[in-house]
Amino acid sequence: MTTGIVYHRAYLLHEQSPTHPERRERLAYTLDQFEEEGIWDLPEIIRLDPYPAPEDAVREVHIPEYISFLRESSRRGGFIDFDTSIPPGLWDAALLAAGGAMRAADAVMDREAGNAFALVRPPGHHARMGTGAGFCYLNNMAIMVRHLQRRGVRRVMILDWDAHHGDGTQSIFYGDPTVLFCSIHQSPFYPGSGMIEETGTGPGTGYTVNMPVPAGTGDDSYAFLFREIITPLAREFSPDFIAVSAGQDNHFTDPLTGLALTARGYADLMAATKRLTGELCGGRLAAVLEGGYSVEGGLPYTNLGVIAAMAGLDLTGIREPLALREQLLQAEDPLAMNRVEEMARSLKRRLAQYWKAFR
Ligand SMILES: [Zn+2]
Repeated sequence: MTTGIVYHRAYLLHEQSPTHPERRERLAYTLDQFEEEGIWDLPEIIRLDPYPAPEDAVREVHIPEYISFLRESSRRGGFIDFDTSIPPGLWDAALLAAGGAMRAADAVMDREAGNAFALVRPPGHHARMGTGAGFCYLNNMAIMVRHLQRRGVRRVMILDWDAHHGDGTQSIFYGDPTVLFCSIHQSPFYPGSGMIEETGTGPGTGYTVNMPVPAGTGDDSYAFLFREIITPLAREFSPDFIAVSAGQDNHFTDPLTGLALTARGYADLMAATKRLTGELCGGRLAAVLEGGYSVEGGLPYTNLGVIAAMAGLDLTGIREPLALREQLLQAEDPLAMNRVEEMARSLKRRLAQYWKAFR
């Protein structure tokens, strides 16, 4: 099994400011770690060059007024919200990130790689049809999914495990039964949405599934939700492709969030996702990087764990430095699992009206 990694040095160019959480170092440290571990030399890994997303692919997701606004503002700089300014040159950076996600999908569809991970910046899952938000400008994931569908893939399951709810992606597919959107995220937290009551609209009713979890949630709870909710849902939906919005900000060292996932927990989640794609859709799997702000202590290890799992490498060596052990114990809430179980029971009761698996 080979894993394609989409990467380009231009992904280090975009930056709102050097002190912004979504800064260049997010990928720079990961790349250092890849060099150190000899990732690029492994026969299981192939490096893929991205292309800028063509404008017609962007128009499948975003409205013309927003596209014009983003392109125009990128000439001299502009502003979307308090966290999301538009530095000059943003338009080209955003197109290359969206195109990177498309390139990952292409590699899988063309069997150039068994699966693929787009290590892109800026992230995308808070971007809606008509606006950016929360460090996001174009919705890379949604652009990739529509691209897959143009290539003949009918049903796509999106698994968004970023610590923040993927409100942008949810809104884009809210009425669409061809895309099953599943999100695990910290709650209450930014952006405030992602309650279990949000299940879709019209023909898309039942095809949005939110799993809000409390601060302090760790590896065991994620594994539990994967087994109890995500796996039965995926089997019943029977996707032709599984796409992961790989937010790495659930890591216990992340400075913006309060979750307690470890690098090994990430690797196990991806390994479980990969098994599911093998069972349901011929292994067709692509991941797109979303958040993750622990530039030194988290991202290099979580990205490595996710890639090792995708490539089927030995995961026993995936762990953080021992020096961080104390920090992990502080981040974990032993009571979080009880609340996650309670949420899962309510969610199953709600989903039972749409999905036989929960009856
Ligand atoms: Zn996030």
